[in-house]
Amino acid sequence: MALIVQKYGGTSVGSAERIKLVAERVKQTVAEGNSLVVVVSAMAKETDKLVKLAHDVSSNPCRREMDMLLSTGEQVSIALLSMALQDMGQPAISLTGAQVGIETEPAHTRARILNIQTERLSRHLAEGKVVVVAGFQGITNSGDLEVTTLGRGGSDTSAVALAAALKADLCEIYTDVPGVFTTDPRLVANASLLDEITCDEMLELASLGAKVLHPRAVEIARNYGVQMVVKSSWTNEPGTKVIAPGVAPRPLQNLELGRPVDAVHFDLDQAKVALLRAEDRPGIAASLFGELSKQQVDVDLIIQSIHDGSTNDIAFTVDRASLNHAEAVSTALGPTLQKHRGSRVEQTEVMVDPEIVKVSIVGAGMIGRPGIAAQMFHTLADAKINLQMISTSEVNVSCTIAAKDCDRAIAVLCEQFEVDSSPAPTNAIGPNCPPVRGVALDLKQARLAIRHIPDRPGMAAHIFQTLATANICVDMIIQSQRSRLNNGQMTRDIAFTVPQMDMDTALKLLKEISQSLGDAEVTAEPNVAKVSIVGIGMLGRPGVAAQMFEAMADKGINIQMIATSEIRVSCVVAENQGAEALQAVHQVFELGQTHQIEIPAR
Ligand code: ADP
Ligand code: ASP
Ligand code: MG
Repeated sequence: MALIVQKYGGTSVGSAERIKLVAERVKQTVAEGNSLVVVVSAMAKETDKLVKLAHDVSSNPCRREMDMLLSTGEQVSIALLSMALQDMGQPAISLTGAQVGIETEPAHTRARILNIQTERLSRHLAEGKVVVVAGFQGITNSGDLEVTTLGRGGSDTSAVALAAALKADLCEIYTDVPGVFTTDPRLVANASLLDEITCDEMLELASLGAKVLHPRAVEIARNYGVQMVVKSSWTNEPGTKVIAPGVAPRPLQNLELGRPVDAVHFDLDQAKVALLRAEDRPGIAASLFGELSKQQVDVDLIIQSIHDGSTNDIAFTVDRASLNHAEAVSTALGPTLQKHRGSRVEQTEVMVDPEIVKVSIVGAGMIGRPGIAAQMFHTLADAKINLQMISTSEVNVSCTIAAKDCDRAIAVLCEQFEVDSSPAPTNAIGPNCPPVRGVALDLKQARLAIRHIPDRPGMAAHIFQTLATANICVDMIIQSQRSRLNNGQMTRDIAFTVPQMDMDTALKLLKEISQSLGDAEVTAEPNVAKVSIVGIGMLGRPGVAAQMFEAMADKGINIQMIATSEIRVSCVVAENQGAEALQAVHQVFELGQTHQIEIPAR
């Protein structure tokens, strides 16, 4: 007999009829000889309605009361599903997060799960009952028993955490699409269903806008080796397996608070090329990286900052043996990428740094914890190490620094995060692994820029620590390549993206600290979209980024920012071009299929 945790999302329990359908599937699973814990979300749109009500009565509803309010949505659906099951003759009992003992930290509206009591669950299961548990909610475990919620979309996380705590054989996530697709099938009609995807890829996709899974659910599956599958509530198709690596057993105490960083990686064989003052128009990145790829130069990190006037700086790293080649290609191409103003030409310039190293902190525990990247920047700043390029993803923060600082950087980072260091793993991907597994679009991002920041260690640490204190997650951090003299001191610009809902707070905080940044100027642009490709197969395969840039250039789409990490490339474009960019990129990697899957309306 297997122990299965099933989770049904809002659309799947969106009406009395749909709840009855879910009950039938649950009953059937029990009839096949399994024990079952079922996690449900609030009925479709219910949580949104409650959020709106809160804002109708208050301009700034407090987080504690938001949790009291939002947790009611799930209490309705567990009771209804339990009634429907009992009506079919299937013994069942509904339990709130508090009744189960899903203990969380006290951070209202974004609490992490610390521990799950399993006694009551096991007792009811032994009685032959299906236990229907409210997703998305928990209770603080010390002091007053406060109701908490985990963050929007958090029922997936409840389900996977329960599966880990109960050591369940399987966690099935039932939703309103047949599984994980190459991209959102509601935006790209011919998106293909994936048979399987690795946790690493799913983590990136989920955090880059694919809301089919809550990123923290994938993190728990990865850490505890939970077998997970995403399926449709309306069909019996096999769905998509999310493959968790084999893992060493780890304690269930502090379930979501494990060590945030698993390792410090370094790559000693890096050199940087920067092309300064390339024109800010569609096709520039495509020409440069298209040519590099044609000449078989494997590019690692790529960053392009926001435009300065009407030109951009593009910087990338290669291994040192490729430096001369990469420099020659960039120098030869430079004149074709220049900006002409009437008869005047703004000349491009190629800058190289032959001796840099890349140091990275890696670990799934960084998700949603912006303080970790800030801590890395602080640690390096305290050691007087200047950061050149920064590249962040949900599970990795990489910085390039001068080669002479490498040993010190590794030592201080290992000490800070209490981990060992090792060379960055190289490509061990089979030739059949597709370079790109999926494409994601995030329309809920805003772009912030801070200009004229003094060019000295500690500035990035100061900025990102300030934002981390307000729990604002930052992505795509890009420093300008050029430094400029401003009021007698060398300065640089830093641009990055934050969730749109955090933009005003971020702007306010940055304005407050701008004096301590030498009167830096802060600007914000809410109307941007982020398009990303993700795939472990792009490791060590030249030309993948170039293909993405070309697809956008062909549609005349201008790329405002570029940032890459090991298994993803992200581009910021204008918001109104986001969907078109997504479709073009999906097509160029031939991720579509000829027949379209019928996706029911929500
Ligand atoms: P649930 O209420 O079941 O939790 P969600 O709305 O949170 O469902 O997530 C399912 C939705 O995620 C789908 O309806 C789909 O529009 C969207 N989605 C975004 N990206 C993807 C993707 N790559 N694969 C599948 N669905 C995706
Ligand atoms: N009901 C919550 C939400 O809408 C949690 C979830 O559905 O996963 O965000
Ligand atoms: Mg969801």
